[in-house]
Amino acid sequence: MNKYQEALKRFYQGLPKEYKALGVCECDYSLLKEIAEKETPKKPITDVHSKYCPKCRSLMIYDYEYESEFTRCSDCGQLLDWEAK
Ligand SMILES: [Zn+2]
Repeated sequence: MNKYQEALKRFYQGLPKEYKALGVCECDYSLLKEIAEKETPKKPITDVHSKYCPKCRSLMIYDYEYESEFTRCSDCGQLLDWEAK
């Protein structure tokens, strides 16, 4: 769990029960969760032909001309972990 995921967990656990019951913070929680996930490096999807973003399936994560791996997906901003097995 990275620092964003930990903060999100603390935030959600700290919410009063009545808020959770009303669902008032569900939209905020979803937005924050989206950021936490984007900042959590994900392993790119690779096959014999291409390399794809694990989140949006975009091909914009690798420069084939310069054989360069992008840190983030150019389309959705997902942080990538090229070392992950
Ligand atoms: Zn993407």
